[in-house]
Amino acid sequence: MIPPGETIGILGGGQLGRMIALAAANLGYRCHVYAPEQDSIAAEVCAGFTCAGWDNEAALAAFARNCAVVTYEFENVPVGPLRAVADNAPLHPSLRALEIAQDRTKEKAFVEELGGRPAPWQAVVTADDLEAAIARIGAPGILKTARDGYDGKGQWRIRTAGDAAQVDLSGKAMVYEGFVEFSGEFSVVLVRSAEGEVRFWDSPSNRHEDGILVQSTVPASHRVAGQVRDARALARRVADALEYVGVLCLEFFATDEGPVFNEMAPRVHNSGHWTIEGALTSQFENHVRAICGLPLGDCGLAARGVVMDNLIGDAARDWAQILSDPANHLHLYGKAAVRPGRKMGHVTRLVL
Ligand code: AMP
Repeated sequence: MIPPGETIGILGGGQLGRMIALAAANLGYRCHVYAPEQDSIAAEVCAGFTCAGWDNEAALAAFARNCAVVTYEFENVPVGPLRAVADNAPLHPSLRALEIAQDRTKEKAFVEELGGRPAPWQAVVTADDLEAAIARIGAPGILKTARDGYDGKGQWRIRTAGDAAQVDLSGKAMVYEGFVEFSGEFSVVLVRSAEGEVRFWDSPSNRHEDGILVQSTVPASHRVAGQVRDARALARRVADALEYVGVLCLEFFATDEGPVFNEMAPRVHNSGHWTIEGALTSQFENHVRAICGLPLGDCGLAARGVVMDNLIGDAARDWAQILSDPANHLHLYGKAAVRPGRKMGHVTRLVL
């Protein structure tokens, strides 16, 4: 067990790291952020900050030696240099979880082995591969970069086979997926302790626009609710197979044939932000508890219902208006520049 007062290392300097650090502070921990960018909104609320690149093994090792445990808030970190962290401090979730989740082909194959069902998919590098994938799977579909994509970035809609000619394949590993006709989207957010105890939060219905999460609602719509049991069973198999420690999120499409796996995130997740006020223990606090070996908190609901809206781009400028309703819980991430499509904050409302 890592007792309060010790230092937790966080790889990545964004809002997820910031909210992990705030939860850790409530439990009496210090946090130290490692991030390549100087203006880190996580580092702003932490005791320590190392600003260095993901390939700087000496800096990663020195950072880890100063931490009792290290976690990450960003999964597009190259795994190779991170061995310098894992050699010098416990790293949770493990490198294996990161390695699988940061590559869509590995992630889909891994979940299939455990009995999960992703959309029909095929790995693509060349134009010929793409043509063959469309011939086998059909159109419409979505072409996604295998690595480094987030919030709808690195994705191209393919409406007809003719669209394939327009895509500029750069030699990067990609995945072509059949388009899923879904009646809703939802996520399973769980926490697993080192002893293998697993707890689930209620699954929210998630709404995305342009590939970005805009709203999570609990309880989920009834079309989603009937699929949560199967989805949880798969998420538990994934967590157990990885001997996972911390918060894990799996995203699903609800379809007439049951839940279709979309992707997983080996970290706290945007569709779990509602848990800060809406659950008895937030995803951030339980992540800290899990990685430090503390008993897990209750994931039960703190209200009859919860709605979380992301503040994307200019929407964050409405903070005064949002605060004029005393029922709104406003979270601003402190990002200096407002950009279209950028997650600037979120607002949570409880249904009491
Ligand atoms: P992703 O970054 O893969 O999570 O995709 C972002 C969003 O794009 C998803 O939450 C869906 O709304 C949509 N999307 C992604 N893949 C598919 C698919 N195969 N079929 C239908 N919609 C998809």
